[in-house]
Amino acid sequence: DCTALSGAWGRGARRLKGDGMASNKKLLVLPGDGIGPEVMREVRRVIDWMDRRRAVTFDLEEDLVGGAAMDARGVPITEATLDKAKRADAVLFGAVGGPKWDTLGFDKRPEIAILSLRKELGLFANLRPATVLDPLVDASTLKPDVVRGLDLMIVRESTGGIYFGQPRGVETLPDGTKRGFNTEVYTTPEIERVARVGFELARKRGNKLCSVEKANVMESGLLWRQTVTAVGAAEFPDVQLSHMYADNCAMQLVRNPRQFDVIVTTNLFGDLLSDLASMLTGSLGMLASATLGGLDEGGKRHALYEPIHGSAPDIAGRGIANPLAQILSFAMLLRYSFGMEEDASLIERACTKVLSGGFRTADIMQPGMAKVSTQVMGEQLLRELDKLAA
Ligand code: NAD
Repeated sequence: DCTALSGAWGRGARRLKGDGMASNKKLLVLPGDGIGPEVMREVRRVIDWMDRRRAVTFDLEEDLVGGAAMDARGVPITEATLDKAKRADAVLFGAVGGPKWDTLGFDKRPEIAILSLRKELGLFANLRPATVLDPLVDASTLKPDVVRGLDLMIVRESTGGIYFGQPRGVETLPDGTKRGFNTEVYTTPEIERVARVGFELARKRGNKLCSVEKANVMESGLLWRQTVTAVGAAEFPDVQLSHMYADNCAMQLVRNPRQFDVIVTTNLFGDLLSDLASMLTGSLGMLASATLGGLDEGGKRHALYEPIHGSAPDIAGRGIANPLAQILSFAMLLRYSFGMEEDASLIERACTKVLSGGFRTADIMQPGMAKVSTQVMGEQLLRELDKLAA
């Protein structure tokens, strides 16, 4: 289950001699369950293509997670796999779960794999792009005029807030009724670090950041607003910062989503708003995500990339899953973990070209288009990559 796919002897080694660059890019690939391995296979072909055609070599390791790891090793993720993830420069994750493991106790659930990775790698900023590619503009439930050209990014704080805050629980009151409670908690450092991710992303994109909370009714929201404002003034005076209440943001996302560039928000509001924003694009099989951690002493930022869809047990094993969300997650990995903007945008442009060429997997099928399998979608993508790189 542990394969070193490309060693130090490919193009990377030649480049190493040429410019003195020392290390290859270490990537841990975790396909998981259901359609995870099927869509990851197409990413592997893109990686092979890059090895051959571009001056890049990855040190690739692959491992089991989720139900696959449960079956083989009795745990959803082993300590050894978590160690590999810590040593890697980036982790590419597929999806986990399925009916076979639904009845297991909570500590054996496949989802523990992703929760453990988030915890061990300290991943606190979840990045969810919502991009509408021109050929798929009709897939949105909103009018094409509202979503055409949409390209926004939601940064959701993902380790704090009300899902983790103490105290929490359910208590029985003297009159026999019950009281359930959770606490929204944010400290200044928690807000500062996620705000910085938002500002840095904005700088690389349209230079606009909108911070979202409910400062009108929540003290933690007021602290959020004050802290983001302070970080902006001190470190990112060049980025255009605005603030919005979460309820208004939900409305604005549906009314005029193109007003946004980067949104930064809390765990709870980000959970809701990022799902809402995803659906502006109309297709689960197209949506990528990243989760980033802090910088370690060596200046390395832990990061995990995954499609937002799950393991799709209803279509697993049939070779019909859409591989583009997984491939676009890999493009995000190139951009955010390795600064390989040119290669990332090459892959993104190739995806658009394949769709403009009329190729569709079943989930995004439209009248008059050619319905293709996972594998054919991958092959068409390689063909477009060849053309674009020629
Ligand atoms: P899902 O995303 O797996 O599937 C929802 C629907 O979308 C299904 O009809 C599926 O066929 C379709 N779909 C999803 N991805 C597709 C793709 N790439 N191409 C074509 N169609 C696609 O969500 P679900 O059905 O709620 O969950 C199934 C399993 O996945 C559950 O065990 C759940 O716990 C797990 N899950 C895992 C993750 C993760 O690993 N991060 C995320 C969500 C759900």
